[in-house]
Amino acid sequence: MAPTTSEPYPPELSSAEIDQLIFTIKDWTIAHGLAVRPPPALVATENDPNVILATTAPVTIFPSPFPRVCFDQARSIQVAYNNLYASIAQDETFLEEIVQEILEVDEFIAELWKVHLKVKEEGYSQSISLGLFRSDYMVHQATDDTQPVIKQVEFNTIASSFGGLSLQTSKLHKYLSSISYPLLQQPLNLGEELPHNSSTSSLASGIRTAFEAYSKGKTPHKCCVLFIVQDPERNIFDQRHLEYEVQQNGSPIPVFRLPYSQIAAQTSLASTPLRQLLFHPPNNPSQTFEAAVVYFRAGYGPSDYPDASAWEARYQIERSHAIKCPSILTQLAGAKKVQQVLATPDDSSNPSILSRFMTTSPSETTVLSKTFTNIFPLDTTPSGLHARKIALDPELCKGYVLKPQREGGGNNIYRTAIPPFLNSLPETHWKSYILMEIITPPPVHNTILRNGLVEKGGVICELGIYGTCLWDCNTKEILHNEEAGYLLRTKGDKSEEGGVAAGFGSMDSVRLV
Ligand code: ADP
Ligand code: MG
Ligand code: MG
Repeated sequence: MAPTTSEPYPPELSSAEIDQLIFTIKDWTIAHGLAVRPPPALVATENDPNVILATTAPVTIFPSPFPRVCFDQARSIQVAYNNLYASIAQDETFLEEIVQEILEVDEFIAELWKVHLKVKEEGYSQSISLGLFRSDYMVHQATDDTQPVIKQVEFNTIASSFGGLSLQTSKLHKYLSSISYPLLQQPLNLGEELPHNSSTSSLASGIRTAFEAYSKGKTPHKCCVLFIVQDPERNIFDQRHLEYEVQQNGSPIPVFRLPYSQIAAQTSLASTPLRQLLFHPPNNPSQTFEAAVVYFRAGYGPSDYPDASAWEARYQIERSHAIKCPSILTQLAGAKKVQQVLATPDDSSNPSILSRFMTTSPSETTVLSKTFTNIFPLDTTPSGLHARKIALDPELCKGYVLKPQREGGGNNIYRTAIPPFLNSLPETHWKSYILMEIITPPPVHNTILRNGLVEKGGVICELGIYGTCLWDCNTKEILHNEEAGYLLRTKGDKSEEGGVAAGFGSMDSVRLV
């Protein structure tokens, strides 16, 4: 039975009830891998038998309420979003225009582009590309009387994480609602309101589909999937869930974790026109696997490229025959600048740039564009000059967030911090940022368990919808396109950033209302 509207949700708990729930959650999460590695100090010495390997991931004690219309809308448009980004990733001319604008002031983007150009010159060896995407949204409600709608925060095309932990969080909240919530003084039964989540198996199925597409061609080697990872990685169990699913759900597929810094040491290219990527497991170098799919969970930001050899490693993978998730062009399609260009009405009042990529139906274009919020360039176009005024105004800037072309959380500048930040930069650098209206969702309450401590109060929820897409750049054919489950991340409403990995957010699941 759903609680009546007069009852608060989540219910007020006594301290004994909170203690009991936390006790239950701590054990369930470790038993089911809803976990992260503890901070580095606790895992410093690898050979120490007392080392702590896992601790509960930050998680909410209850699933947060989320409007059903918004959840359904976000899921229903994911296939169209996959199509859109697959199409952008194949439009080199469009991406080049965007990259040209920012590369003189953004060295990271410039280096990525250089790798792409070098590979293009000798000819790409693989025409198939894999995207494991995630489109992130917040709820926007103009007034109490209007329907809530979703507004897109960003679209991720590289290292879209938390699919593994997200499924476990849905399972945790389902477990609590069948076993623990009914025993509270204000009993709760949320069964029907907790939607199915397929994140882990759907993402794995995307990787498997790419693996099968690759290994259809004859090869003398045993094929494998490589997960390119950071080392150390606190979010390892999220990746492990996906890895186990790829390995075991169906006929076995070998999966290896390869730290980004070890690419040069553990892989080589076959000296054939196809340039297959060969992987030599470090514990048994006499064995050779051919990498069918390279899945990047690293390499999305400058810190993974400390020197020229790291760029060489990226070049080696890009020019190989392996199917990349993502290719460099697909990674660039996820740049914040691309999102801004899609969202900014054309100054010459041409039809939206979206129609360049979406040839299927105009109504789909409309549906997608309704999820955009105002995003402005900071260049010298009329719209950029208008945005500069907003960004430098001590009052107007309060409604905005400034974003560089970066991923992984912790890179944005918020509200009144924007004017001093811009003033500290040479004006020539401003064009590599975008200015985005802050989305303020209706107030929600919840309790977060983080590092053993309980934080109670107002929270902000961000919904992510995963999508998997496989396409052939030669034939322009979409080989696979699916919506792939969801993620809900929740942060205290006093925190600007919401990344779980960046240390501000927590895992959550939705209670549809
Ligand atoms: P990243 O690629 O680093 O994750 P995001 O664009 O997702 O960059 O920004 C990081 C976080 O900042 C988001 O998870 C969200 O919490 C917050 N944020 C970003 N854009 C907005 C926005 N327009 N309105 C409100 N919060 C935002
Ligand atoms: Mg991102
Ligand atoms: Mg994000």
